[in-house]
Amino acid sequence: MSHEPIIGIDLGTTNSLVAICDAQGPRTIPDRSGSPLVPSAVRYAQGTTVVGADARRDATAHPRHTVLSVKRLMGRSLAEVGADLPFLSYAVEAGPRGTCRVRLPGDPGAADLVLSPEEVSAAVLRHLKLLAESHLGREVRKAVITVPAYFDDAQRQATRTAARLAGLEAVRLVPEPTAAALAYGLGLSSADRTPRHVAVYDLGGGTFDISILRLTPAEGEDPFFFQVLAVGGDTRLGGDDADHLVADLFRREILARTGAAPAPESTQGLISLAEQVKIRLSEHETAPVRIDLGPAGVYERTLTRAEFESLITPLVDRTIDRCRIALASAETELAGKPLDAAVLVGGSTRIPLVRRRVGECFNLEPYTALDPDQVVALGASVQAAVLSGDRRGTLLLDVIPLSLGVETVGGAVAKVIMRNTPVPARATEMFSTSVDNQTAFRLTVFQGEREMAADCRRLGEFHLRGLPPMPAGIPQLEITFLVDANGVLGVSALERRSGRRASMQVIPNHGLTPEEVDRIEQESVTHAREDMTRHRIVDLIANSNLDLKWIGERFDRFSGELPPPERDSLSACMTRLRGLVARATADWKGVAPDELHQAKESLDRASVRLQEISIAASLRGSTARPG
Ligand code: ADP
Ligand code: MG
Repeated sequence: MSHEPIIGIDLGTTNSLVAICDAQGPRTIPDRSGSPLVPSAVRYAQGTTVVGADARRDATAHPRHTVLSVKRLMGRSLAEVGADLPFLSYAVEAGPRGTCRVRLPGDPGAADLVLSPEEVSAAVLRHLKLLAESHLGREVRKAVITVPAYFDDAQRQATRTAARLAGLEAVRLVPEPTAAALAYGLGLSSADRTPRHVAVYDLGGGTFDISILRLTPAEGEDPFFFQVLAVGGDTRLGGDDADHLVADLFRREILARTGAAPAPESTQGLISLAEQVKIRLSEHETAPVRIDLGPAGVYERTLTRAEFESLITPLVDRTIDRCRIALASAETELAGKPLDAAVLVGGSTRIPLVRRRVGECFNLEPYTALDPDQVVALGASVQAAVLSGDRRGTLLLDVIPLSLGVETVGGAVAKVIMRNTPVPARATEMFSTSVDNQTAFRLTVFQGEREMAADCRRLGEFHLRGLPPMPAGIPQLEITFLVDANGVLGVSALERRSGRRASMQVIPNHGLTPEEVDRIEQESVTHAREDMTRHRIVDLIANSNLDLKWIGERFDRFSGELPPPERDSLSACMTRLRGLVARATADWKGVAPDELHQAKESLDRASVRLQEISIAASLRGSTARPG
């Protein structure tokens, strides 16, 4: 990047992030701890200003010195923020011309600190600017900053002022839902000029926003034109409420079991614990809870996902009601057309119940391919790249540039959608297990033209769990790949006998430049012959192993019923195939595929008689077995 960089910033109520978009595509910039999430927390004490994770972590120890959620105060008067004040740990008072000010106790002997919300936000922005500068190794002076769709002129102006105080020019303020849509490349499609309608559901720490957008591809500086058709939400509803509900449950149970309520000073600790439990339940079915109450004993229980879900159902219901209202008010504009996508934003949309309910409400599988914490910042950086005249890092697709598939036994890739298939595309393949009583199945999704997984690009993996134990080869796994018009790939797995399902979403071309696509394709040509052989060998090994297992089991039971010459030749065939499989497993070049193929065929032929005997025995067994 030669010209001046423009960074993208998501200035959030709970967390803020900075991202950059170049030829590699959009990406967030992590801080020293490796996380791109910078808590929007600023501590003013001992003459220094501490921003981010440290300030958040120690907020309970310094409640009156730490400013959290300052975004709620931006551009508003004291009267307007009245309802927020009980939730803020620091003092807020009236400033000049109806603005508000934060008052923090000064260091001993010094006067109180009185700060405008813009100054506090500037501290967060400065921190993000420094992160970007040390990452890029050069000065950064310009940024695209996101704001909620409902921010009025005063709130936008305050955001611009905060940027200026931080030494950044806010070249554009972009509504958060628009940024989220941009991160997915929605509205950027080259050929297709029809407008897209998108719902953006954003559930953060303390706020909920729903927006319905129309994106119309356009000419000129901006590749699209967007309209907000409806906004709605609740500025006092978010993940924090879920934490409080869980903490309340703990408190009630502690009271019931010990007869004493937990001390008020333990409230913050309980809430932090509740948040950890909540986050665990997004990934796991249960979360263990253990609180040492000192002399009162130990409070111990396991919270299940089902219990958590019933606890937060009223919260989720409230968000869904708002979604329905927003949909209704966009009704005339939508004119009966269905939505094209529902995008999930905000850390709280990791909660599986939220994903389910949003999917049902909009009758769409919601977009989850991008990290919901990062979507807004990524989108801001895409807008920044467009404004700085950088080539957009994202690929414009009308066809799928590289094949997509899943890894099979032995490390080969079974292609499900071939390259150059036009989007949208859908394909289904059937698979089964290779081991008896397999109750979980790992699906790893790959992209590329090579035959072996190790030579392809790994896009992600997910697990299908809870399958009933069945012999190898019996489960019927239906794997569906769906690439929609925006290039988002959804992979879903269904085990047909048990009805178990699992799925994931990715953006296959995220972080790939057109040059890389060309190189990957070129490599497949170079290695074509060798790759084909290797794929054939691993498939032969997998199938031979299944045969050897099946025939071996029957041989052990029924070989006595075979005429000795047949028994000996069958045994010889097994030994020979076993030997070849062992050699091929150790080194795939060690065996010619035809040799392995012939050995497998010979075994199949030699085992015909054994199979007949075994079928006859199983028929006898099923009719003659005593009651
Ligand atoms: P904001 O936009 O308000 O700054 P975020 O989008 O960063 O907020 O969301 C923060 C919220 O997301 C917090 O309540 C946090 O507990 C919640 N959260 C983060 N990760 C998870 C998770 N894996 N499961 C459930 N909630 C989560
Ligand atoms: Mg946010």
